Amino acid sequence: MTHTPYILHMDLDAFFASVEVLKNPALRGKPVIVGGTGRRGVVTSCSYEARVYGVHSAMPGHQARKLCPQAIFLKGDGAAYGHFSRLIQHKVRAAVPFFRAASIDEFYCDLTGMERFHDPWPFAQKLRREIIAETGLPISMGLASSKTVAKIATGMAKPNGELWVPPGTEARWLAPLPVGEIPGAGKRTIAALVHMGIHTIGDLQQHPLPVLEKRLGKMGYVLWHKAQGYPGSLVTTERVRKSLGHERTFMEDIADKKRLTAVLTRLVEKCGHELRTQGLWCSCVTLKFRYADFTYQTHQQHIALTRSDEVILQTAKSLLAHRFSGRKPLRLLGVRLSDLQDTPGQQSLFEDAMHQEQLHRAMDAIKLKYGEKSLKRASGLESGY
Ligand SMILES: [Mg+2]
Repeated sequence: MTHTPYILHMDLDAFFASVEVLKNPALRGKPVIVGGTGRRGVVTSCSYEARVYGVHSAMPGHQARKLCPQAIFLKGDGAAYGHFSRLIQHKVRAAVPFFRAASIDEFYCDLTGMERFHDPWPFAQKLRREIIAETGLPISMGLASSKTVAKIATGMAKPNGELWVPPGTEARWLAPLPVGEIPGAGKRTIAALVHMGIHTIGDLQQHPLPVLEKRLGKMGYVLWHKAQGYPGSLVTTERVRKSLGHERTFMEDIADKKRLTAVLTRLVEKCGHELRTQGLWCSCVTLKFRYADFTYQTHQQHIALTRSDEVILQTAKSLLAHRFSGRKPLRLLGVRLSDLQDTPGQQSLFEDAMHQEQLHRAMDAIKLKYGEKSLKRASGLESGY
């Protein structure tokens, strides 16, 4: 089973201007421009009613005033924008396996793996409907198998729309679009492409890569790859992690296996939570023992790819049981998960594994909302942290 990445890109429409309309409904339907009020100020956001006149963000205020003299110019309200951004980020972060804010009004989510429990598109649609219902703010989104295609899809869906580019159709879908739609392509680069006879993303797809590289250097390489619409996980491209772990140094050295098991349980919970919120699976568990004399040992065991606390804990407990003699007390105990992957690979899924995953998802959502310490296994409580 190969795993298609599901990347969701969300972008609030004319965010600052939309918040201003929310604050003052009398502005609805009118050209609203945020920023550009001072002598040399630039437009930071403008409503779609203002865009009709050719106004866009980053435009000097005097130019915007010339194009649309009847517009309502506002200074901006950073506190209100921050409030709504946090509100929405909080909601989305709690709902998805991996979240990353690209800016105050633009977010990426990696829904990969979720398709085993929810259909990603209806899930995303519901999330978007809820954001709109709860905040009253328009937001657009695109779902695709890569960041680039998802972001372009959002752009196509605007204003206040949604678009899904199903896996396998990316290159075909991109082909007729102008090259300027590729995120990261600057004006000068686009001009160079057009000069080479490359007008659409399809033209770019067909163009020999060495020619592009020779002409545009690294940018040519980057744009050509973006144009192909290859699938790409948010997790692997954003965060290449080799391992993750937690350890605990004790106030007094501990030799008691029961107490060490309690600490181990907490450490595994912390690692498991981190693993899942980053959309990862692991296949190696390592314990680290540091003794009172500062010598240390590590013991590891390879297992089938997992992200389950239960499986990791079982492995960790068995390592502790077999490798820790109890004769020399420990000064520190550590757990490390490695051989990380962002797909579950060939993992076979049994019903109980699915239920466990759903349980983890619910637990992780609570932890993301109320803090990692809000939910602990009873067996780890006596660890004291
Ligand atoms: Mg926006």
